[in-house]
Formats: sequence, C-alpha cells, structure tokens
Amino acid sequence: MSGREPLILIVSGPSGSGKSTLVERILELPGFMPSVSCTTRPPRKTEAAGKWYNFVTQAEFQRMVAQGEFLEYAQVFEKNWYGTPLKSLELARAREQDLVLEIDVQGALQAKKKLPHAVAVFVLPPSRQDLERRIRERGQDSEDEIQRRLERARQEILNYRVYDFVVINDDLERASRETQAIALGSRCRVEQEERRIHEILETFGG
Ligand code: 5GP
Repeated sequence: MSGREPLILIVSGPSGSGKSTLVERILELPGFMPSVSCTTRPPRKTEAAGKWYNFVTQAEFQRMVAQGEFLEYAQVFEKNWYGTPLKSLELARAREQDLVLEIDVQGALQAKKKLPHAVAVFVLPPSRQDLERRIRERGQDSEDEIQRRLERARQEILNYRVYDFVVINDDLERASRETQAIALGSRCRVEQEERRIHEILETFGG
C-alpha cells in the first residue's frame, strides 16, 4: 500500500442478504483486514472473542460512546448494540492494510457521512421471497421477527442512494467475483492513489 491512507470498504445490507460470505471473499485478497466490532450481544458457541467481535458489557459500550471511541454505532433490531471502534482505522493505517467493515445499514449511513471517501457496497437479495426463504432456512427467528426483518429490509433498501455499489446476491459465484472486483477496483480510484500519483509526478520533476 506504500504509505497511502487505507481504503475503507463498507459492506452492508439487510440481515440475511449474505454479506458475511461476501466479506470472507474480500478477505481472501491480500492487503485487506476486517474491522473487529464491539457488541453487547453475547457470543455464540462458535465465536471466539477478538476474532469476529469484542464482546463488551452495556456499561463498557456506553463508556466508549461517551468518550467518542466509535466511528459509528447502532442498536440492531432494537436489541443489541454494535459499533466500529475508531481504533480499527488506526490499526489499518499502522499495518498498511485496507479495512473492511461489515455493518448494518444505519451504521453504513453514519460511516459514509463521516468518511465520504469510504466505499459502500450494498448487498441485496434478488427479491423479498428470496430473503424470506433465507431467513426461514436459518431457523433463528419467530414468525413475528421474520415479518419485522422483512419490513426493515424494505426500509433499508430505500436508502440505496447512499451506496456506491450494489451486489445482487442471487448467484454466489458471480456475486463473489463482483465483490472482489469492487474491492480491487476501489483501490485504484484516483482519490485513493493521489499521493502515489504525486510521487510519480515528482520523478518527472514535479
Ligand atoms: P450478528 O449479531 O448476526 O453478528 O450481526 C447482526 C447485525 O449487526 C448484522 O447486520 C451485522 O452486519 C451488524 N453489525 C456487526 N457489527 C456492526 C458494527 O460494528 N456496527 C453496525 N452498525 N452494525 C454491525
């Protein structure tokens, strides 16, 4: 990355759209690292602390909010709190890596406002029916919750204009290729590479 500012790649979309799998595909590319979020949600059996999340108490989360330690934070499904620590950005800068944020739509709106240069990718299911099938297959939610998730997805999709790219997740292979292409292509944006362009210009005598 040679001393340039890290690219901040936000991957977001309705719950159940399959964004986690697409984020994994980005992280297969060299030079990308995930942002580890803080959450008040208790860990699932398969989750080790510090890998996917830092699991914190409500009090600790509130302390971090009060001290301005988050780039963005949100309460997801009126339940648990999630936030991206500003420390993630420092870490990416120190490691000279690009940073991938997998966050909900409320968080993506906040992050884009604070970091207009960040690239935001919207992951969408091809239809409501498809999203409903995925949520049901996961088998985690009551009927009430499924209906609420679907209505929320509709509201979230209405925010599409904030995003720079959309990936429609109807075919995982194609969607993965598109996501990787967006990640790699975003690195080549002029505003991302301005410093290097000037370095090249210097070799021409400025
Ligand atoms: P889960 O509890 O299933 O891991 O995540 C629930 C939702 O929270 C997902 O949509 C996930 O993308 C979102 N999420 C995870 N980390 C963050 C974060 O740091 N900020 C925000 N706003 N949402 C997050």
